[in-house]
Amino acid sequence: MKVVMVQKSQRNTIVSIILTLIAFVLFISVSLFEELADLSMVIMIVGLVLLAASWGVYFLSGKSAPKEEVENVITVIACRNCGQVEERSFAPGDYIFKDMGQCKKCSGPSFIKSIYSVSPKKE
Ligand SMILES: [Zn+2]
Repeated sequence: MKVVMVQKSQRNTIVSIILTLIAFVLFISVSLFEELADLSMVIMIVGLVLLAASWGVYFLSGKSAPKEEVENVITVIACRNCGQVEERSFAPGDYIFKDMGQCKKCSGPSFIKSIYSVSPKKE
């Protein structure tokens, strides 16, 4: 989930860079080619809109990143022998009733009792 978020914000950054480049190319072409003088106002406005859009994309991607909802998934490991219960972060490959080897307390057989997710704390 986190990886997807990072890729999304990177894509937004690339989009904003491309929009900025297009805007600058428009500004430069207006100053370089006299044939475009009649269109200079229109091109300037289009360039400014592109610049504003690129800043908007960049600002939104930067702003949404800290608000990213990190879902905490907890795996509960229990011992069949002594009832010892331990919680840890979910790891890929975890599933309910998976054999987790020896209990840390009594060396009895332990297994994944349950997996649940915790919503991020609301401030
Ligand atoms: Zn045990």
